[in-house]
Amino acid sequence: MAVKNQSKSRNDSKRMPGKTRACRWLALFLLMFSMGGLCLGRRTQNSEMPVRIRPEHYRIAVEIVPGQGFLEASATIHLMLDQPAPPTLSFFLHETFRIEELVLNGNKTPFSMTPAPPQKLHPARQRVDIQLDGKTRALPQIDIFIRYGGVLKKLPQWGLQKPHKLSMDDTIGPERVELAAYSAWYPQFPEKHWFSLEVEVSVPANWKTVASGECIATRVEKNRIHTNWASPRNQDLVIVASPDFKEIQVPAGSEFGTISVFHTRLPADFIQREAREMFQTLKYFLEWLGPLLHTGSSLRHVYSPREMGQGGYSRPGLVITSEGRVLAALESIPTLSFRRGNAHELAHFWWNFGRGQADWINEAFAEYFSLLVLEAAGNAVDSAVYLKECAGRVRTLPNGITAMSKVPAENSASNHVVRYCQGALMLHYFRSRMGDKTFLAACRGFYLAFREAGASTQDFRDYWSRQKGLDTAIVNRWLDTPGNQIVFFPEAVNK
Ligand SMILES: [Zn+2]
Repeated sequence: MAVKNQSKSRNDSKRMPGKTRACRWLALFLLMFSMGGLCLGRRTQNSEMPVRIRPEHYRIAVEIVPGQGFLEASATIHLMLDQPAPPTLSFFLHETFRIEELVLNGNKTPFSMTPAPPQKLHPARQRVDIQLDGKTRALPQIDIFIRYGGVLKKLPQWGLQKPHKLSMDDTIGPERVELAAYSAWYPQFPEKHWFSLEVEVSVPANWKTVASGECIATRVEKNRIHTNWASPRNQDLVIVASPDFKEIQVPAGSEFGTISVFHTRLPADFIQREAREMFQTLKYFLEWLGPLLHTGSSLRHVYSPREMGQGGYSRPGLVITSEGRVLAALESIPTLSFRRGNAHELAHFWWNFGRGQADWINEAFAEYFSLLVLEAAGNAVDSAVYLKECAGRVRTLPNGITAMSKVPAENSASNHVVRYCQGALMLHYFRSRMGDKTFLAACRGFYLAFREAGASTQDFRDYWSRQKGLDTAIVNRWLDTPGNQIVFFPEAVNK
């Protein structure tokens, strides 16, 4: 989620005297972490469910009734089975939903539903189990059809609840619909997967919808608007809809063509400024890392009309940001730039292949690349101040903190400091030993080598230990030393 950070615009930073500036930075830094810290909706590994069944394609039609908080959906999911396939096919679905019909390879099939223990990222889901017979288990692929629906559970948004209580931004309400992996509004399989998708969303005719993939058709029927979306490679099925959405298209001047911005109440000059900064950021990433696997996607930036919630998250071609948080921040500093936070989310278009526990790889690179963007855009001072703050937070991590090589793929306790700050500092240290050019070339090589298969912590060790200027001892020291015992910070952050 959403670590949306604000960096002041260049002009504004120049005007600020040193001390005030550092204090503001600190305040904004803390704000960033108070905004939670789930990024990209990673699914926590569940060791009870070995990943031998993977979704390859989703086709879902969903009818949403915002006033009643209700949805009804029909989904066909094409699943690949790795042999030996397990005797039980299990997936997650939203806690309060009922299944009306479940068909496996054309035959109605019995199933059981068990409440799943609430998790920080997945506070309201249940597990659905289907027993597979020997013949079905031996198949390389199967199709399930499921018709289901219900009223989405209401939980407070992130930031409106005490940290240890359950929160969820996914909602179906009269002002906002937001659905993503967090609520398990569609059948979800353990672990993170890449799949193709076709989604049809139906909402009242006066609503505007943005969903995962490209919009390929729209029709209005019986006072409802149906939009169809398709994507050849995705990780989530996201739907954001509002009756108040305004859409602004800004030319991108890159392979993204245009950026479509959806918002309800943001100032026009702010939107133009943000769009310009995002294009520049994409240009840097394309230059440093090369084209995306999901090229051809348009870029949509959706300011979800939440009061608070997670700051932002990204999916292929889609960045979703809390409009309420942006408005609140603009109220205190009208010239505020979200360049760094947006760059972090855009960086996830590339950095999204750390597997399972190694999700820290995604966050470390997204965080560090957001700082490279600041530097490239002429804000090297802000980037340095940010890194220094990071070093302070890592040094003061509590005793008993997990080393990066063991940090779980979630942000409870101080894990976010390990995943984001310690990760960014490590990359900064690597760069200081390798030189800018070699470092960027190695990042690009790492991205190209693992973007399809995903990288584990061991893959990271092996790859980076071989790079010029580094060795196994250096890499292992960063990965295996608890943050508060790290004494080998890059020179720059010790000053
Ligand atoms: Zn992130």
